[in-house]
Amino acid sequence: MTIRVEPMVSVGQATAFLVPRGYTLAVCLEVAEATLGGLAMGVGMTTYSHKVGLYQETIVAYEMVLADGMLVRVTRDNEYSDLYYTLPWSHGTLGFLVALELQIIKIKPHVKLEYIPVKGQKQYCDMIRDLSGALDKHRATPDYLEATVFSKEEAVIMVGKFVDVPYNEQYKVFQDIVLPMTHLEDQIDKCAELLDVYPILVYPCRLYDHGPHRGQLRPPRKDQKVPGTNYGMFNDLGVYGVPKLVREKKRFDAVHVMRELERFTADMGGYPFLYADTFMTRKEFEEMFDLTAYEQVRHKYNAERAFPHLYDKIKPEIDVVKVGKQYMDPL
Ligand SMILES: Cc1cc2nc3c(=O)[nH]c(=O)nc-3n(C[C@H](O)[C@H](O)[C@H](O)COP(=O)(O)OP(=O)(O)OC[C@H]3O[C@@H](n4cnc5c(N)ncnc54)[C@H](O)[C@@H]3O)c2cc1C
Repeated sequence: MTIRVEPMVSVGQATAFLVPRGYTLAVCLEVAEATLGGLAMGVGMTTYSHKVGLYQETIVAYEMVLADGMLVRVTRDNEYSDLYYTLPWSHGTLGFLVALELQIIKIKPHVKLEYIPVKGQKQYCDMIRDLSGALDKHRATPDYLEATVFSKEEAVIMVGKFVDVPYNEQYKVFQDIVLPMTHLEDQIDKCAELLDVYPILVYPCRLYDHGPHRGQLRPPRKDQKVPGTNYGMFNDLGVYGVPKLVREKKRFDAVHVMRELERFTADMGGYPFLYADTFMTRKEFEEMFDLTAYEQVRHKYNAERAFPHLYDKIKPEIDVVKVGKQYMDPL
């Protein structure tokens, strides 16, 4: 669990070598250009230091050329242990460093970072003391820990933990749906009922009434229009993440959920962005989108013989129903 390096090796080079192999420096600062030798002769201290101390604590051996030209290997316990303890913070005033042996640690593929906003000076000071293990040496501490103090009374504490990939990406939902703001509460309720993924993105957008058959979107319904205008105020409902049932490793019927969401969207007079998988039949798709003008234009400009139909272009290449059923039970 050590590496031997020349002093000009940078933190970035060391991590580029170590991380793909499942390791990192025990004290690994985020300044990629800093050199491992410079940190040894100066100081290193990072968000893992509550576990291991300063960078100098992770140095197993220094190889030094002393003032008389002698090359010595300096360790905690050998005859040069006096040098071992004085080389950190010496800034090159005791000799030239020519090699280092450094402790490394095992890592997992990801770091899950939690941001904890804390109000009150006592609260955030107590919390960081507690999380660091300063109050109890037996406390299980996070792998990485730091705080940013935004004002005397407000701070965000950041807690990082090594994690394996928690879920197959296949289990993530990515949906942007254009829906009328008149039913914003219903949209959020429906998401809670079907997916329970937060945060949800919402931003308003005008959908103009250009008259019938003037594009793939139908004119906003009468009750959706902003009074006295020719537009309705719709919104993007962006839902990205892992559904609650999947997070809880429970049975999740993706096909049923997506069909329900599509039904809801159609009832509301909304439209899903077409980058996402659709489970709609062609008939349902044509009921949701107004393809009257689209078909005329395709014919008029000879697109029919050159380009696929919109439905054929956006429908999933894979059999989503089959795949959805496969993923019903993440266990
Ligand atoms: C804004 C800011 C924030 C920072 N925050 C942190 C932080 O949170 N944690 C942290 O650990 N550091 C922090 N640093 C300091 C940073 O880590 C330093 O840059 C680092 O300690 C030195 O790395 P370096 O490769 O630039 O070394 P250098 O500056 O090149 O070297 C450091 C000293 O060691 C001597 N030296 C270098 N190589 C040898 C050698 N082979 N033999 C003998 N002497 C040698 C140099 O003469 C110099 O005196 C911060 C710096 C800045 C500017």
